[in-house]
Amino acid sequence: MRSHRIAVIPGDGIGQEVIEAGKKVLSALAEKSGDLRFEFVDFDWSSQRHLEKGEYIPAGGLDELSRFDAIYFGAVGSQDVPDHISLWELRLAICQGFDQYANVRPARVLPGVNSRLKGAEDIDWIIVRENSEGEYSGNGGRVHQGFPDEVGTEVSVFTRKGVERIHRFAFQLAQSRPRKQLTLVTKSNAQRYGMVLWDEVFFEVAKDYPDVSIDRELVDAVTTRMVLKPETMDVIVATNLHADILSDLAAALSGSLGIAPTANLNPAGTFPSMFEPIHGSAFDIAGKGIANPVGSFWTAAMMLEHLGESTVAERLMAAIERLTASGLQTKDLGGTATTRDVTQAICADIERQ
Ligand code: ATP
Ligand code: MG
Repeated sequence: MRSHRIAVIPGDGIGQEVIEAGKKVLSALAEKSGDLRFEFVDFDWSSQRHLEKGEYIPAGGLDELSRFDAIYFGAVGSQDVPDHISLWELRLAICQGFDQYANVRPARVLPGVNSRLKGAEDIDWIIVRENSEGEYSGNGGRVHQGFPDEVGTEVSVFTRKGVERIHRFAFQLAQSRPRKQLTLVTKSNAQRYGMVLWDEVFFEVAKDYPDVSIDRELVDAVTTRMVLKPETMDVIVATNLHADILSDLAAALSGSLGIAPTANLNPAGTFPSMFEPIHGSAFDIAGKGIANPVGSFWTAAMMLEHLGESTVAERLMAAIERLTASGLQTKDLGGTATTRDVTQAICADIERQ
């Protein structure tokens, strides 16, 4: 029996609904396999907890979390807590505490899903986002707060170590894909320090991966290429902020924010990695039972892959594709199915296979 210990943090809003759905699918896969087991431990780290107890993560929480094989995360964000507090105190506390410096975001149009973009079937990208420093390093300050001469600074920090490790990660990922192509995205024409460091280190690292074909784009220009020539790109590596924006664009182009998954990886394996759908807590639809759980299913497939369960991950991916192809879709994709309908359908399909 293969067994994996998974820490589950549903978080806020629809995070709770889609993670519940994802656990059901993982349990169906385990049951079907017969020789696979998941031990789920739920953590109530959420904005509700913050409002009641004044903290998202209890003392010693990260230590406890560090003993799991993986973290399955929903979403964080509440109307009652400023976003910069909820994000930093929960999601970023885990990403930074566990040095999950590589954020990986695949984008592809699943069968049966309609994109608004002509030629979207050619989208097959993986966006690699630097996840530990850069624009979200948390450095900056405000002076003369509230006065007319107030100043706010937000300092981006790029270290050679941080830049080199994300480039190496992206090259290795590109190398493992059939097209072996990597696009560097920066803004080194206007930003002449950190962004130039990014460019320089990229071309140094490239020498170690001669079989990977490379090109470079400015972040503004790459948005037009993503829309107009989606077939010309494979793996894309960009900074924390740039890749954050590009991956929302990629998700929308490939159908819906409700489908896209992401992995926050600690490539060294010193700490657990964290897997989450890219969407947020979506309070406009929370509690209605209509959230699209496909993003959390795809997230579960990425988690399985990371746990060394490639065959089971492929089985899940195939079930997800049969599900979307069947036309059973939630409202965000133009359908009328509920979260529960979609979850029951995929579990039944897994049992049948
Ligand atoms: P955050 O601030 O954390 O980004 P958010 O509340 O702004 O979260 P997002 O998740 O970014 O919401 O999504 C924006 C909108 O897209 C939501 O308000 C919702 O209408 C829609 N959406 C997002 N995820 C889903 C989903 N899984 N199913 C259906 N609709 C979704
Ligand atoms: Mg949002």
